[in-house]
Amino acid sequence: SKDSGKNKFSIFDQEMNRHQLRRMSLEKDLRKALARSEFMVVYQPKWDSLMNVTVGLEALLRWRHPEHGIISPGEFIPIAEETGLIVPITYWMLHEVCSQNVLWHKEEVASVAVSINMSARMFETENLYEVVEEALSRSGLPPHFLELEITESIAMNNMEETVAQLSKLRSLGVRVSLDDFGTGFSSLGNLDEIPVNTLKIDQVFIRKSKMHSKKAIISNIIAIAGNLNMEVVAEGVETPEQIELLQSLGCRVMQGYYYGRPMPVSELGQWFTENTA
Ligand code: C2E
Ligand code: CA
Ligand code: CA
Ligand code: CA
Repeated sequence: SKDSGKNKFSIFDQEMNRHQLRRMSLEKDLRKALARSEFMVVYQPKWDSLMNVTVGLEALLRWRHPEHGIISPGEFIPIAEETGLIVPITYWMLHEVCSQNVLWHKEEVASVAVSINMSARMFETENLYEVVEEALSRSGLPPHFLELEITESIAMNNMEETVAQLSKLRSLGVRVSLDDFGTGFSSLGNLDEIPVNTLKIDQVFIRKSKMHSKKAIISNIIAIAGNLNMEVVAEGVETPEQIELLQSLGCRVMQGYYYGRPMPVSELGQWFTENTA
């Protein structure tokens, strides 16, 4: 009837409203989160499945909201990107991660590269190179212990400009990886022109790796990486079957819940004593 239709519409309206209100209130709080030290970095191991050692870490952001508790990056990163807040947040992250990595070196806890996710916005800022260089020199971290993860779409959009920025960063010694590989543009024709060290196979392929078609894609990504002299990392590895398959296809380095979840600094000391050579 007319009435129930109207009713449904208003429930939908309320949902929209609730969503928009949360979005607005999160945006307001996000503006203060840096100054209030509400961000925290967690680190997920990248694992060499043949040597059985940790060969790297990915730094992932967490927001400890005073009322809502931990908010996942899936919810707040898009807001941070839209508002431009991702830029100062990433600057903070760069300094935090570089100084933490120097501490691990000094205390002889670990000696591995740590990667940071880079939004497209970072490549729109003119001084990305200077900011990275400053984080390295202030902390004293040797550049090859820092890795930047970018997505295909960043690399392919505005390619000339991005390649120039990446080349400058690479000349410093900083490492670059292509994140979520296989899900973006997949304009393979340009892949050889992007100065990256590593391809990270997206989790969706690993999750469905029982399917022949996904297996074929994984196998081809590994072959492309090999032919272009790039390393390869499989993401989202959760089961022994996936590990066995990936190893049989020639992929050695893996990241996923099977080996280790993202952990706060307080847990990593223990992790490294148990999981390094
Ligand atoms: P991503 O860069 O692809 O990071 C991998 C995500 O997969 C992480 O989620 C990680 O916790 C999750 N993951 C790792 N292993 C497994 C697994 O075995 N199974 C499953 N189901 N998931 C796994 P997280 O930390 O929630 O981050 C989500 C996304 O948010 C990241 O995807 C990245 O795009 C973005 N993000 C996180 N931190 C930052 C940051 O500091 N800056 C920027 N720009 N983006 C970030
Ligand atoms: Ca990533
Ligand atoms: Ca990824
Ligand atoms: Ca992703």
